Amino acid sequence: MEYEAVIGLEVHVQLNTKTKIFCDCSTKFGNPPNTNVCPVCMGMPGVLPVLNREVLHKAIIAGLALNCEISAYSKFDRKQYFYPDLPKNYQVSQFDLPIALNGYLNINIEGRQKKIGITRLHMEEDAGKLIHEEGAGSKSSFVDFNRTGVPLAEIVSEPDLSTPQEAYIYLNILKNRLRYVKVSDCNMEEGSLRCDANVSIRPKGVKELGTKAEVKNMNSFKAVEKAIEYEIRRQIKAVKDKEKIVQETRLWDADKEITISMRSKEEAHDYRYFPEPDLVPMEADKKWIEELRKDLPEMPDIKAKRYMDEYKLPQADADLLTSEQDIALFYEECIKHYDNYKTIANWIMGELNQYLNKKKLLITELSKLTSENFVKLVKLVDSGVITGKSGKEIAADVIEKGVDPEKITEEKGLKQVSDESEIESIVDEVIKENPEAVENYKKGKTTVVGFLVGQVMKKSQGKANPQVVNKLFKDKL
Ligand SMILES: [Zn+2]
Repeated sequence: MEYEAVIGLEVHVQLNTKTKIFCDCSTKFGNPPNTNVCPVCMGMPGVLPVLNREVLHKAIIAGLALNCEISAYSKFDRKQYFYPDLPKNYQVSQFDLPIALNGYLNINIEGRQKKIGITRLHMEEDAGKLIHEEGAGSKSSFVDFNRTGVPLAEIVSEPDLSTPQEAYIYLNILKNRLRYVKVSDCNMEEGSLRCDANVSIRPKGVKELGTKAEVKNMNSFKAVEKAIEYEIRRQIKAVKDKEKIVQETRLWDADKEITISMRSKEEAHDYRYFPEPDLVPMEADKKWIEELRKDLPEMPDIKAKRYMDEYKLPQADADLLTSEQDIALFYEECIKHYDNYKTIANWIMGELNQYLNKKKLLITELSKLTSENFVKLVKLVDSGVITGKSGKEIAADVIEKGVDPEKITEEKGLKQVSDESEIESIVDEVIKENPEAVENYKKGKTTVVGFLVGQVMKKSQGKANPQVVNKLFKDKL
């Protein structure tokens, strides 16, 4: 019997407001424990929360970016549960009237498009963090309330995903969109994006859903992909071995690459939700929502599709260029000056990206880089004025110092020599100095020509046109 998987994702993203959701404590990451706290976020008796308007603002933008309908009327609810890092013993969340509903994202998989539904997006407060003392005989645990009350948006997908790869693509689009609209940095390492996966299997063609397991504790999108892959295999094996699959929460162990049962959830949780009496319901103004919708940028996945259609870029290039908004904007600036779309893309993904990675910089931090100079550099190489090697050598100056590449070419005398008569004498010299290689070439080992060309390049300080050099060797040998 063949099985198929049914996957739904729950993503929590931290909305990047300066202050917390119901008080004015800072949301800054990495401060000493319990320094970003006040009576409100520590859940002291008698305090009153007040909604941070910026949280609502960013939640609406996030909802719009994910094609959701924004609710005209929305409220907060208390979700009751006990945990030591939850000082009020309830979390303020949204239950039946979330801020955004019925969204979707289109993913492209192997050339076809698939629509993944987004059930809802709601606002809630984050809990604190427990730190357990390590080492033999340690008995203490500590609690840090800095994160308590940090604003989150929880985004729940429909169980429309069928493979780990689809989940991976969906997460990337979701992350890129939220970054484009600047509501979250979606940094998984700092916990500003977390993802849980609900996974079940069923025989192909069957409608009813199987019993699901909730998989947690993945710290990268690749880990989500691997954890789902493992979980599908585990469940199929269990069914084939006639074991019963129980509804449970499982933790991903990244070292062993397996999921481990954490607690069974045989019965549905009863959180005893009820409306939060200390916060008034929200009515988001229609005009405000429409203004926010108008201000949305072109979304990264839509942009990538356009790059493929208009600029004929391969999907991998289009995805890479659009994954960072500022890189995409720079690309669009560059192609205004030069319509060799693919070559510009190569230089941005190659030299520029390598430079940024090496220096751990963002493109916005390169204050002297201009699209004019960058395009000049690409053109110099493209038209054969300088060699690709020289181009790469001066790229750093163009990127970092904003130097005019034409000027450096002049100053350093980098102009490529394509005149056969000028190169011929060097070729003759190299032939004379390397009788062994020449002999091998004549015996049919034509690959040595690479070595000979290299010698000419060295002697010409990289200025000889390699194609001309190659041609001369072929003629002479
Ligand atoms: Zn506070």
